[in-house]
Amino acid sequence: MNFAEWPDPDYIYFNPREFSRRQDIEDGLQMDLETVDRLLWVRKLSGSKIFVTRGVDTEGHVENSTHYLRPCPAADIMFLDLSLKAANEVIRRAGFKGVGIYFDWRYQELKMGGFHVDTHEGDPKRPRPLQWTRHQDPYTDKKEYFYMTSKED
Ligand SMILES: [Zn+2]
Repeated sequence: MNFAEWPDPDYIYFNPREFSRRQDIEDGLQMDLETVDRLLWVRKLSGSKIFVTRGVDTEGHVENSTHYLRPCPAADIMFLDLSLKAANEVIRRAGFKGVGIYFDWRYQELKMGGFHVDTHEGDPKRPRPLQWTRHQDPYTDKKEYFYMTSKED
C-alpha cells in the first residue's frame, strides 16, 4: 500500500503522514484503520482540529506500548479548538478500547493536555474498555498511572 491508496475520500481530515514518525517517511500507513476511522468520527463530531502528536512509533513510550504494534492501533492527539472536558465526552462515545488523559502535554508552549487512544483489546487481566490518567508526584517526580474502567459507556 502507498499513500495514493489510502482509503480516501472520507479520510480527508487525516493524512497518513500525520501518523508517521517523521514527515519524510511513510510508516503512518501502518496505522490500524479502525483507529483512524474512530478518530475521523471524533473529528467530525467534535468539529475540532485534531493534532496527531504520535501514531506509529518505535520508541519514547512505555514498554509494550500499543504504538509499537503493527498495524498500529494507537494515536496520541490534542484538540486545538476544544477543552479537555468536551473532548473527553466525544472520545468516550467513539468506542476506543483504551483512553489515556495526559494533562501535562504541551502544544508548542501551551500546556493544554491530550489523549492517548487505541483500539487494542489489551491485557485480559485489565479488562477493557479502560480509561486512565497519569499523575506526576511533585515531591518525588515519580509518575503513577490511575485506571478507571469505562464499561458504563
Ligand atoms: Zn499513546
